[in-house]
Amino acid sequence: MTGNRRPEPKKHGTPPMRRIPAVHSLLETGELPRLQCLYGRRVIKQAALSTLDRLRAEVRNGAIAGEGLDPEVIAERVAAQVKNQQVPSLRRVVNATGVVLHTNLGRAVLAEEARQAVFEVGGCFSTLELDLETGGRGSRQSHVVELLNRLTGAPSGLVLNNNAAGVLLALSALAGGREVIVSRGELVEIGGSFRIPEVMIQSGARLVEVGTTNKTRIDDYAMAITTETAILLKVHPSNYRIQGFTEDVPLADLVKLGRREDIPVMYDLGSGSLLFLDRWGIKGEPSVADAVQSGADVIAFSGDKLLGGPQAGILLGRESLIERCRKHPLMRALRMDKLTLTALEATLRLYTDEDLAIQSVPTLRMLSMNPAELAGLAGALRRRLRHRLGAAAAVECLAGTSRAGGGSLPGADLPTTLVAVTPGDISPEDLATRLRAAFPPVLARINDNKLLLDPRTLLPGDDVVLVEALGHILSPEAE
Ligand SMILES: *Cc1c(COP(=O)(O)O)cnc(C)c1O
Repeated sequence: MTGNRRPEPKKHGTPPMRRIPAVHSLLETGELPRLQCLYGRRVIKQAALSTLDRLRAEVRNGAIAGEGLDPEVIAERVAAQVKNQQVPSLRRVVNATGVVLHTNLGRAVLAEEARQAVFEVGGCFSTLELDLETGGRGSRQSHVVELLNRLTGAPSGLVLNNNAAGVLLALSALAGGREVIVSRGELVEIGGSFRIPEVMIQSGARLVEVGTTNKTRIDDYAMAITTETAILLKVHPSNYRIQGFTEDVPLADLVKLGRREDIPVMYDLGSGSLLFLDRWGIKGEPSVADAVQSGADVIAFSGDKLLGGPQAGILLGRESLIERCRKHPLMRALRMDKLTLTALEATLRLYTDEDLAIQSVPTLRMLSMNPAELAGLAGALRRRLRHRLGAAAAVECLAGTSRAGGGSLPGADLPTTLVAVTPGDISPEDLATRLRAAFPPVLARINDNKLLLDPRTLLPGDDVVLVEALGHILSPEAE
């Protein structure tokens, strides 16, 4: 990687193959003695041997000569290989994309309280399935079910791996072998692999489609009801909006029909916000409490979308229905592990005080930032970048929009101020590639031949990392 790949006129009298150092002398060169202390002699020796093998092959086919054979340069190659091997594959990145819930970037960032709780419970024995009063066996569900009841008003609940698991379990337990009625406008696909019709097949329930893509009325459901109908299902179209001549059935009307016919109504809410989002100008997004109040018998939503917790699925609803889900054999396969459960409980606890939740849950903090705050952050970032990059790039502020992402709030417009970087010597695509190779990697957007940075999704300290990464790539001589 660091070697000079072009054959050069011979500078030294010795033939290239004989200039390759012996492994024992290489191990004493450059950074390698220090790395041996850090990672052990065996690791470094192995990397040195494989680097020397590659070097001999390169010499043989004439790909390397001259400086590429200096022991210092070879030692650098060995060091780079060792450092690469030591970097974890799953690690933090800086999200400057402005997409708050980015599925590729791990969706919600945990609150500090949730991180601390995971750290503690993960490193110790815990009350996972212990009833401290009796000393006997307890339920892992007990840690969150009562909290969920307090926060949403739902009589009963159940948590599991993710919302896809919740929907699969509920359909299997409540409608296996029978019929589920869904509007054609709500047969959604989320994230490529979760498709309502396919989940339905897996659950053993039969899908009965009603209405059309853009219009479904209450009579369409009513006419499709038979003695085989087990559930009336409503699905939140999380990641798209049909605009124009549309009509769908409000949850409350579906509930009325369900009550009359004695058929449970299930609502796959998708994102599931525990707060009313109108306060931030986000209109028309039903909250979990809205759905509970509308009388849905079972509600399913994610833990790592608008809730801002770990990957999780939450089922809320009538005790008799939740009980059937709890007892279904799939439950064991889909149950939540202790680290997730700990993070979920800690996140839910923050919601017992709404202001505390808004301050401490990063997803809520990011969604609630106002335009003036964002403009201030963008201005400060622009100043620091101009100072660091000098003539190496043009840096300006631009009006733009952030997105909620992660199949949440489609169509919601979140105004922001972007910092646009136009590098002088390389293309914005090259710059983005090199930023992804930085430590930690930095993710940005590109538009109109500019690299765009959105301050909304930067975590505390990320601005420093960002300025350093850009400076190192575009203006290394100023370091
Ligand atoms: C996101 C989503 C799902 C899948 O939830 P996961 O927690 O990602 O498994 C299912 N249904 C709807 C409507 C969604 O928005």
